Amino acid sequence: MTKARSKGEDKSSMQYSLFFIQRFKGKVLFNVPMSDYTSFRIGGPADVMAFPQDEGDLKDLIAFAESKGFQFHVLGAGTNLLVRDGGVRGIVINMSEGFKDISWLDEGKAIIGAGVRLTELVSECRDRGLSGIEFAVNIPGTIGGAVIMNAGAYGSEMKDIVEGVEIIGRKGQKGFIPRSELNFSYRKSELPKGAIVTRAHMRFEKKDAESVKERIKELREKRRAATGGIHFPNAGSVFRNPEGRAAGMLIDEVGLKGERSGGAEVSSVHANFIVNAGGAKAKDVLALMALIRDRVFSLKGVVLEPELKVIGED
Ligand SMILES: Cc1cc2nc3c(=O)[nH]c(=O)nc-3n(C[C@H](O)[C@H](O)[C@H](O)COP(=O)(O)OP(=O)(O)OC[C@H]3O[C@@H](n4cnc5c(N)ncnc54)[C@H](O)[C@@H]3O)c2cc1C
Repeated sequence: MTKARSKGEDKSSMQYSLFFIQRFKGKVLFNVPMSDYTSFRIGGPADVMAFPQDEGDLKDLIAFAESKGFQFHVLGAGTNLLVRDGGVRGIVINMSEGFKDISWLDEGKAIIGAGVRLTELVSECRDRGLSGIEFAVNIPGTIGGAVIMNAGAYGSEMKDIVEGVEIIGRKGQKGFIPRSELNFSYRKSELPKGAIVTRAHMRFEKKDAESVKERIKELREKRRAATGGIHFPNAGSVFRNPEGRAAGMLIDEVGLKGERSGGAEVSSVHANFIVNAGGAKAKDVLALMALIRDRVFSLKGVVLEPELKVIGED
């Protein structure tokens, strides 16, 4: 325990404990530092972190949270996430340990679990001579997070290869959302409120295995040249690129490369990355983000919007 709990909190921990002992098959952690579960290595404690193993676990968990009025937050690999220093109340549903199945169908189609890592899928497709996901080489997230974020790079995005997603809705109901209803846009998709992606249906193009390998190699080298020199924990691009502009270039032009707040620093390699240069708190990252937005707006007249998701309490 990192902080004293009130009687009310003890009661709710007990309620959590009883549910998890009785029904839940996956692992459950209490009062767990989110800094252990984000690529930024930043974030206060989550009351509860549950790792559903299958759809049954997920349905039970949602029903339990709903019945008790507990909030829940969905976590993939935590690579696009800033968790505030006070942590997260309620249940963090960690999708990165279950839902790791991949079913290969005919004609380059596959059904892929939300917990599968993009890097694993890139390797699988490379070995099968399937093209479409090469852009994701070295993007460190899960399939679930990548669908939600419509992750992309080098002119390709998840929307180009996702045909639809299987979900569990906020009332625990199973559903399928076709691509046409996901409303994909730049680093964004839309799901019904509270829905959790369990699997993505994807289609790849059969190509010569050597050409797929070559493309992966080429993109890996491009990425190394752009961000390979960043050695501190980070969460990728902090701001969305405004129409026709690169956020990193704007931040560089207003002279903020290398700027620090506490342990957080605007990367001197790529200005749209903020790094945890040692002991950074969420408040340090948020202070840098506010400074960047103010400076870019006052000197360039451009409003930068965060790409990073921010959750939790101060
Ligand atoms: C070094 C580095 C490089 C990166 N490069 C790129 C890049 O080139 N292009 C790019 O687009 N991104 C990039 N990213 C950002 C990040 O990796 C992607 O956005 C990734 O897709 C996020 O996946 P995740 O599993 O980590 O999601 P998380 O960060 O865990 O979550 C992101 C959002 O998705 C939601 N979510 C996660 N899983 C599910 C699910 N199963 N169901 C419902 N909601 C869910 C979460 O609630 C949250 O709102 C980079 C990050 C790093 C650290």
